[in-house]
Amino acid sequence: MPGNMPIAESEVNIVRGMLWPGETVELTVKQRRLRPGGAWITPTTWVVTNKRIIFIERDRWGVRKNFELIPFDKVTGVRLDHGIFSSAIYVRVAGMSTERGKYRRNREEGEIHGLRYRDAVLLADLLNRKVLEKERKEEEKERVLLEKHRVARPGLYTYCGECGRKNNASDLYCRYCGAVLGHMRQK
Ligand SMILES: [Zn+2]
Repeated sequence: MPGNMPIAESEVNIVRGMLWPGETVELTVKQRRLRPGGAWITPTTWVVTNKRIIFIERDRWGVRKNFELIPFDKVTGVRLDHGIFSSAIYVRVAGMSTERGKYRRNREEGEIHGLRYRDAVLLADLLNRKVLEKERKEEEKERVLLEKHRVARPGLYTYCGECGRKNNASDLYCRYCGAVLGHMRQK
């Protein structure tokens, strides 16, 4: 984990009481106050920990109003959009969404805009890594399961169901196209 992530102590202090044992803050990002066109908004803060995303919403006097908690296992995708004045991040969350700094339920993808370019890049990068980490864990689980069910039979071959090429029966993945093997075994 890079050690140079911006962390605002004032934001950490707000969430400190709700952190789980072993949960640490990795990044804090605040929306810009001024929107393109001159409208002022109350910035939402993103606090990203090693376990989840915590949004801190504020009312228009800047008083903390509301929290939204998004565990990483609900985040399915993140993308970044650079505008001229500021950047936006689109986060796909199972069953929820972000919109104008608010988190709304029952929409698959939402948007947080008004981020500084550098903050947006850091945030997107960190969230993408979290999603990848989660996918890797799932793949590892799948691999262990496959391994468990695999019977090593030396001298036998298997043909890839995707590309049709010949692999050793003991291979888990096709050496040509990377597809998962293991269903159509033959000599
Ligand atoms: Zn193949």
